[in-house]
Amino acid sequence: MAARTTRRARGTDALIQLDGIHHISATTADAACSVDFYARLLGLRLAKKTVNQDEPTVYHLLFGDEAGSPGTALTFFEYPNAARGVAGVGMVHRIVWRVATRDAMSFWYQRLSSAGVRAEVDDHGLTFEDPEGLGLEITVSDHGDGALPARHPEIPPACALQGLAGVRIFSADPETSERFLAETLMFTRSDEGFEARGPTRRSFVAYDELASPGRGGAGTVDHVAWTSEDQDIEAWQRRIAAVAAPTPVLERFYFRCVYFREPSDALFEIATRGPGVTVDEPLETLGDALSLPPMLEHRRREIEATLRPLSNPRRGWTAEN
Ligand code: ZN
Repeated sequence: MAARTTRRARGTDALIQLDGIHHISATTADAACSVDFYARLLGLRLAKKTVNQDEPTVYHLLFGDEAGSPGTALTFFEYPNAARGVAGVGMVHRIVWRVATRDAMSFWYQRLSSAGVRAEVDDHGLTFEDPEGLGLEITVSDHGDGALPARHPEIPPACALQGLAGVRIFSADPETSERFLAETLMFTRSDEGFEARGPTRRSFVAYDELASPGRGGAGTVDHVAWTSEDQDIEAWQRRIAAVAAPTPVLERFYFRCVYFREPSDALFEIATRGPGVTVDEPLETLGDALSLPPMLEHRRREIEATLRPLSNPRRGWTAEN
């Protein structure tokens, strides 16, 4: 009875487990270059073109599946003069994408090599870097979670990236971080490390030991966000507040979220599944126009004047694509 009371007092009774990665946010010095690499070469959809809500003169681009769904989204803030960063302790040093089969991995090896991107096969999968040095990997996953591909005229649907499999993070003390993942975030041990395994998806975190500091900048990850059910976000905030220092629940228009640092100092976010990036644009034209949340709409002219124009690569596709 006492245990039950304690669990209730911490507000965890009804918590649904985090449903894998929601999005990963990184920094680029060149948004056009990011569009070329992620939308043209990797075949993701530029599913949202908006701005950093804390700094509206900065682009915030989202690459993902057809609907910009949680579980697929890699986002970039553009700081045109940002120096190249280096991943160090407390930073994500590799983002891992899923494909369904080894044939798909061979397809990507060929496609990347033909584009002059050096790709290597190691124990985990196919590793390579984006043009700014951000570490990427493609791995085969047979978990059977729902695939979330984007369509692209040069990429067979069976080979398309199916969403985010996980992240690798540098840590000086992996065990302390792993304990936090297990006890506070309710992750479970997996083949790769620890995973958030929710109702529809799973994504892993693996720690690699490294004590030297890094430097944020172009080609580095700012934070990793995990998917919460909409009704659980306050309960997650309270649960994390018992052991760390999360922000209050913030309203980001496309979702609500909480930020906090895990013990290795990596910046994490928990974000709600809804309402999502289709809340202010139809699915067919996602990412074509600059989307601004209502509280920034009155500044549209000023904001548009400061951003470098970016065209959506889908505009060049023919009707059959
Ligand atoms: Zn975020």
